[in-house]
Amino acid sequence: MSTARIIDGKLIAEGLREDVAAAVARMSRDHGVTPGLAVVLVGDNPASEVYVRNKDRQTRAAGMTSIEMKLPATTSERELLALVHELNRREDVDGILVQLPLPPHIDSGRVIEAIDPAKDVDGFHPINAGRLATGQPALVPCTPLGCIILAKSVQPDLTGLDAVVIGRSNIVGKPVARLLLGENCTVTVAHSKSRALPEIAARADLLIAAIGQPEFVRADWIKPGAIVIDVGINRVPGEGGKHRLVGDVHFEDARHVAGAITPVPGGVGPMTIACLLRNTLTAAAARRGIALAL
Ligand code: NAD
Repeated sequence: MSTARIIDGKLIAEGLREDVAAAVARMSRDHGVTPGLAVVLVGDNPASEVYVRNKDRQTRAAGMTSIEMKLPATTSERELLALVHELNRREDVDGILVQLPLPPHIDSGRVIEAIDPAKDVDGFHPINAGRLATGQPALVPCTPLGCIILAKSVQPDLTGLDAVVIGRSNIVGKPVARLLLGENCTVTVAHSKSRALPEIAARADLLIAAIGQPEFVRADWIKPGAIVIDVGINRVPGEGGKHRLVGDVHFEDARHVAGAITPVPGGVGPMTIACLLRNTLTAAAARRGIALAL
């Protein structure tokens, strides 16, 4: 039985972070600029706290300034908007990330729209989504960008591939589909209302699963030799009462059919923060008219 190449997201993310750190060092040396990333956390969601801590550590390791702002869960929408406006004005802040989810009394859409699109390193602002949709330079959402980098690590030119994306969220499915169009793929976006999902998936030379359902995509949905990028992160009961993480693809079976596949954990996950750092660097360069070689 053939076995797929395992796409090592941890290693590729490490390489990307090293490239970003080298570019940050050049920017500092040649232009006296140190990019700054501000991460705003409202409330005390334990998962968000872990993400924010990792972002802070990796931002500093890349030689950038990390500005962490923790606000109580009782923060009003007005107070949060005032903080975003202040960060928009700050010269030392190149990237602004408001950690989602926000407490229910705050309208996330309004907060995202308040971020200066030039500092929107999550790429969620409608201006950046619109730019991406119309093929203009944009700050692109981090996880979708990571998916494309991983797919291109297997096949640098994706032109002409039949790509199927399962999932149509604004955070993953839609932006990844737009990026694949930009790579000249023939793109199909499937979702919870799609009919004949296995048949649609089986057409894919490149399959991207962003569903949020553990091991949903089965081996017999996969075209032999396909590149499979699994975005899903699902906690399922493991041995000894512990939990383990699985993706949206049944990895153990799929690896015998796919040509290349990302594991969970260690695939798409590590790429997200690496791409956030890359976006912060891109934003810092664009705001100051500095040409960037990455
Ligand atoms: P979401 O819930 O916003 O969207 C899920 C999408 O999957 C929807 O568009 C829905 O139409 C589709 N879907 C749901 N059930 C389906 C079904 N039965 N058949 C076909 N399609 C179905 O989720 P999301 O934010 O896009 O995230 C998707 C997954 O990716 C989650 O597991 C999430 O944890 C993970 N994720 C990982 C990262 C990362 O850094 N690796 C980042 C973001 C999200």
